[in-house]
Amino acid sequence: METIGMVGFDADDTLWRSQDYFDAAQEEFERILAAWVDLDSHGARDRLYQVEVGNIGLFGYGAKGMVLSMLEAAIALSDARISAGDLQRILALGKELLTHPVELLPGIADAVEAIASEHPVVLITKGDLFHQEAKVRDCGLADLFGRIEIVSEKDPATYRRLLAEFGLPAERFLMIGNSLRSDVLPVLELGGWGIHIPYHSTWIHERADAVPADAPRFRHVDTAAALPGAVADVAALAARGS
Ligand SMILES: [Mg+2]
Repeated sequence: METIGMVGFDADDTLWRSQDYFDAAQEEFERILAAWVDLDSHGARDRLYQVEVGNIGLFGYGAKGMVLSMLEAAIALSDARISAGDLQRILALGKELLTHPVELLPGIADAVEAIASEHPVVLITKGDLFHQEAKVRDCGLADLFGRIEIVSEKDPATYRRLLAEFGLPAERFLMIGNSLRSDVLPVLELGGWGIHIPYHSTWIHERADAVPADAPRFRHVDTAAALPGAVADVAALAARGS
């Protein structure tokens, strides 16, 4: 019987808390910068976001790219007046982001274990390689995943390449994650299956249009406890060749 042959999990804000730390760093960045510029009149948040997105092609995703972009934005917004001491505080924000303990989200360990007992599972995450490797090592779930893929972008081309490596047609692949843009839509586009499990905070860059209402290979769950049942439903549908 041809059914789901592999289940992929996103990591940040699917397995463990991540965006909260970035949001807190952003708030602290703004507090530091407020001593040098009128944040509202300078549109500081927008400027930082523009610098971050402009740098993704150079730095990739993750905390190191974020802190370099913060330094760049702080220098630009303050017309290079910001003190070395405050630049040092911004640098420290990045180091804190890279060293916070891994905190698994409620119920996810049991959910991954249950799903891994039924299907091969893989971890597919983007972001800073060194940071992601450290979080995978510390999360306590690494042994459950047959493969751990740390990629620079999660778009259709990346998933197509991974599926070729897995030797799996898209119709037999299910991806689970908190980002419609990175975890769900590209996999649906290839003909695979997606389960969205939203997190309360989403980086603006990851915000995406909703999935079309008639997408038959898409499911939404609100809690990790609902994941094993949703995966079983998808596997049953896939087995029927839906
Ligand atoms: Mg995520």
